[in-house]
Order: sequence, then C-alpha cells, then structure tokens
Amino acid sequence: MHIGVFGGTFDPPHLGHLVAAVNVAHVRGLDEVLFVVANEPWQKSGSRPITSAEHRLAMVELAVAGRAELQASAVELELGGESVTADTIEWLQEQHPDDHFELIVGSDAAGGLGTWRRADELARLAPVVVIDRPGAIGARPPEPFVYDVVPCPLVDLSSSDLRERVATGALIDYLVPDAVREFIDEQGLYR
Ligand code: ATP
Repeated sequence: MHIGVFGGTFDPPHLGHLVAAVNVAHVRGLDEVLFVVANEPWQKSGSRPITSAEHRLAMVELAVAGRAELQASAVELELGGESVTADTIEWLQEQHPDDHFELIVGSDAAGGLGTWRRADELARLAPVVVIDRPGAIGARPPEPFVYDVVPCPLVDLSSSDLRERVATGALIDYLVPDAVREFIDEQGLYR
C-alpha cells in the first residue's frame, strides 16, 4: 500500500485539512491518508491550552467518517508522550514493512521542517508532499528533504480561526463537517 501520513494537532480538523487530504490522495494515487493526531504537540504546547488528544481524535474520526481513503490514526496516542514525526514514521514502517509512506505537510509546516526533532532522520525516512497554504505560499522544505508539490485549491482557514470563531459566537457551519460542529457544541469546546 501507498500511504500518506498527514500529522497535525487537528484542534479542530477543518475543511483545509480535508480538501488537502483528498487532493493529495487523488493526485498521488494513495491508498490511504492517515490523519495522525499528535498526542502532545510539543511545537504548540505552552502557547495555549490544547484540547485533549482523545477529543481531537474523536473529531478527526467524525471528520473522515464515510470516506474510505481517509483514516484517523491513534498511533501517536498509543506511542504516548511528545509526538515526534520521525519516531512515528519509523514505528509505522516497522509495523508495515511492505507499505510505502510519504509525509504530507502544508507549506507553512514544510518551511519549518528543518527545525523538527530528528529532522535529518526524518528527511531520510520518507519523501514529503507539500500543499500550498495561504500565508505561506511557496514555502518549501529545506535540504536534505526530498519533496513534491501537489496543486490544491487554497483554503484560507486554520484551526486557530475556528477556535476564535467559536469563542466569539461566530458560525463555523461548512468550515468543518457537521458532525464535528455538533461535537464541538455538545462538548462545549473553545468557549
Ligand atoms: P492551528 O491554527 O491551531 O495552528 P492548523 O490549522 O495549522 O492549526 P494543524 O492541525 O496544525 O492545523 O495542521 C496540520 C497540517 O495541516 C499541517 O501540515 C498544516 O500545514 C496543514 N494545514 C492546516 N490547515 C491547512 C490549510 N488551510 N490548507 C492546507 N494545509 C493546511
């Protein structure tokens, strides 16, 4: 199998994530895109409270439900602790030695790949697929990462925008799947 690894905090998952994932799967001929929910996103912790990993995983499961090639992955919750993408990809490769993995990142993340933990090992472990994102158009992985760019409709949306909208009472309809919106509402997230 040819599998895309799309890691993120997904707090919450939104239309930008979904549009990117289906387009990368289609253009690259991937069998699956794994939405790998970060257990402890060390790059983001400290700056704001992060929704529990279990709640974020539940939202990703709701977001990808019914779309066979998109899968929610709990691998980083199972590994526990701070989430390091190189560790995750190594673990996936050990568990699935016949599968081929590639790492999917938005261009904002692509531009910063050199600062990720174990970046040199990560560059050797998997090729990268970059999707441009408003605010970081044209940002690309540094050497020695090997990458391709997949053209994709630009979606000017972030999880931060969505949290802000919920906090201020603005609508998030159509910006996240209905089931995710209902979950946010039921659980009282981001208020
Ligand atoms: P936050 O606003 O909380 O920082 P985010 O919207 O950037 O969150 P993440 O879960 O951190 O979402 O992103 C996971 C991955 O999805 C990253 O590779 C990121 O670049 C990519 N991504 C997020 N939003 C978009 C978007 N609108 N278009 C394309 N890629 C995106």
